[in-house]
Amino acid sequence: MTIALTLVLSAFAAEYGPLVEGTEGDEIAAEGLGQADTGVVGCSDQYLSEGFDLPELPLFYTRAQVNHSWGSREMVDVIVDSTRHLRWLMPEADPITIGDISAERGGFLNGHKSHRGGVDVDLGIYATGGKQDPRGFTALGPGTFDLERNWMLISTLLDTGKIDMILLDRGHIERLRAYTVRAGLLTEDEAEHVFPSEGSRGSWENVGIVRHAPNHGDHIHVRVLCADGSKADAR
Ligand SMILES: [Zn+2]
Repeated sequence: MTIALTLVLSAFAAEYGPLVEGTEGDEIAAEGLGQADTGVVGCSDQYLSEGFDLPELPLFYTRAQVNHSWGSREMVDVIVDSTRHLRWLMPEADPITIGDISAERGGFLNGHKSHRGGVDVDLGIYATGGKQDPRGFTALGPGTFDLERNWMLISTLLDTGKIDMILLDRGHIERLRAYTVRAGLLTEDEAEHVFPSEGSRGSWENVGIVRHAPNHGDHIHVRVLCADGSKADAR
């Protein structure tokens, strides 16, 4: 099943190319194109100079925090592209629950250390059977964490090439890492790159990785890169 899905993914990529181009997200965010022409590089994780409100797409996701659903263009693209792809991959699974992104102009957001620059989003993880709670996040234990679908979620996000890092509880990471190697989805080396050992250099310097953070047993925190592929910083 999992290997078949990987083949499907490869076939999809070969036929349609990267998931990040020619998308609804691009159309939604088309007004932001002018900024790229001015030579502006990098982006801030402290404020949101040009935010885009995540559109209502109930087939793909549920917005649980409608007042805090402002993100960078890259953020909106990543959410729309990834969730549409997941709908196609797993039509039986629930739409993903979207928690906080940022306020319209960014800045401090109650309950978070980050989520200030439109480059951070909290996403629900799948419980067994592809279930999501549309009202919010529910803590999952080893018996209710849907390994196959949560790996689909994470690998689809990483495949956009626009992810800085994904934060998740250590226990879930260990289960995912073991699953991907056991199922032949990743080699040991690939697994070490995606799920770097805690405290290793790769866990701080690489992009496109999954790292432990406390209080992330019921959701993943996703940080996207800037338009030019750099990490957001406190400019
Ligand atoms: Zn978060």
